Amino acid sequence: MARLPILQWPDPGLSTLCTPVGEEDLTGLIADMFETMYAAPGRGLAAPQVGVLKRLFVMDATWKEAPGTPLVMINPEILSFGTDQEPGDEGCLSIPGVLASVQRPTTVSLRWQDQDRSWQSGSFDGFAARCIQHEFDHLEGLVTFDRLSPEARTESEATYQHHLESSA
Ligand code: ZN
Repeated sequence: MARLPILQWPDPGLSTLCTPVGEEDLTGLIADMFETMYAAPGRGLAAPQVGVLKRLFVMDATWKEAPGTPLVMINPEILSFGTDQEPGDEGCLSIPGVLASVQRPTTVSLRWQDQDRSWQSGSFDGFAARCIQHEFDHLEGLVTFDRLSPEARTESEATYQHHLESSA
């Protein structure tokens, strides 16, 4: 296993629509992505964040507080969203130093392939639902900035710029 470098916004890899995963062996990549995510530390990591422009992500919404619930989603497809929405602060390993308040549906149902390429489906709420939508956005080439109003985006980008300058 190895820790992978995490692309930082505005790397163009973070704004690219990712392609479906085929039959390729992802065992090593997935292990490396988990190691990278836990070390960062973070709760989710999408393949494009480590420069692999394919439709998969890893997440573990609970490991910081409770026993972990590691999850790999390959070729995820969103089936439906709940009708309720709420704002919530989201960090991103590719946008360090920024918490962006993003409005999202509170529940999401989707199907995905697990590490053995078996199709699974499930419904999620709470933090897991938010995390899944955040990681799914990465596969679409979207980051939290893209979910903000123009005013909030300008403010968040300024915060990010300030963080980059102060940590340089
Ligand atoms: Zn992110």
